[in-house]
Amino acid sequence: NSARKVNFGAGPAQLPVEVLETIQNEFLNFNGSGSNVMELSHRSSAFAKIIQEAERDIREILTIPDSYAVLFLQGGATAQFSAVALNFLNLKPSKTADYLVTGYWSEKAAKEAEKFGKINWVVPKSSKYQGVPAEDTWKLSEEPSYFYYCANETIHGVEIENIPAVVPKDVPIVCDMSSNFLTRPFDVTKYAVIFASAQKNFGASGLVLVILRKDLVENNTNKSIPIILDYKVQIANESMYNTPPTFSIYVANKMFAWTKAQGGLKALNQQSASKSSLVYETIDESNGFYVNSVEKNYRSRVNIPLRIVTNGTTNETLEALFFAEAVKSNMFELKGHRAVGGIRISLYNGITVEETEKLANFMRTFQAKNN
Ligand code: PMP
Repeated sequence: NSARKVNFGAGPAQLPVEVLETIQNEFLNFNGSGSNVMELSHRSSAFAKIIQEAERDIREILTIPDSYAVLFLQGGATAQFSAVALNFLNLKPSKTADYLVTGYWSEKAAKEAEKFGKINWVVPKSSKYQGVPAEDTWKLSEEPSYFYYCANETIHGVEIENIPAVVPKDVPIVCDMSSNFLTRPFDVTKYAVIFASAQKNFGASGLVLVILRKDLVENNTNKSIPIILDYKVQIANESMYNTPPTFSIYVANKMFAWTKAQGGLKALNQQSASKSSLVYETIDESNGFYVNSVEKNYRSRVNIPLRIVTNGTTNETLEALFFAEAVKSNMFELKGHRAVGGIRISLYNGITVEETEKLANFMRTFQAKNN
């Protein structure tokens, strides 16, 4: 569709055009129901089929065992910053949780959790977030209720591929996977709670997917959790204590089907590797014109922040020209987050390898013209 822009934004993100077309085809009359999905009762059999299919597909994609619940909740990933603390801070007598803060989003989560109890910052607060301090410098608690980290910092471009090895095996791990969810395989059984905002890799904003160990919920002793954030209530009501975000769940269902049709996480992992390599090679071969300051081991494959540097200083005039020229080539949303400035390239699953090649070529041409 030639009217479509290429959107390299950090979210809400570009979705595959074929998924949007399917939704368009079903818009006035979903599956012979004579209604749009958003006009269906959440208690109808037609909607039940949608949410059940979505759950079945994500269980298949990630090999989620029955001992884990899959919830489709509201309030985005941000609501989970509170939910995790309210449900699990009391899991152990220490009533303390360890938070590894590696950027803007884990910092927000830690600050929110501090409203509800004792939070131990495993590493000191940083002013720039360009990697992860060495594990032998971390200050872990004796027996924390859980260990929290963010697998991919969307603003700072810091990605942690594996659960840090220094965390003892019996500590429940809570992970915010909002921005790299479905871009690489991982072992669900190593986690207590995983949550991901839908707006990047599987659909529409507002929806958050939560995957959690059911047995932990049984041990929860906090009696004053707002009902909508209470995992026990949400599990008992199969995400339908109140009216769920039905249309967003429908879009997630389509995106999970698309994910499977792409070849699942194996294929999407390869695509993510190819796309990010194209951009990092362009940066690393630019002789310091494009600069990404994240430690190489922690470079995000999904969100790539960079600056344009000339004569040893950041060149905001050239960055402004970069955005303007990119727009002329139909490439949008390349501005860095207001907290850090500069350029940010987000390569979610809805961005194709071809679109990334086009951007990498644009970057090389831009440099040749303006260096
Ligand atoms: N965590 C991460 C890593 C994010 O990137 C975002 C959104 N950009 C959030 C949490 C918050 O998500 P939401 O806006 O859906 O609450």
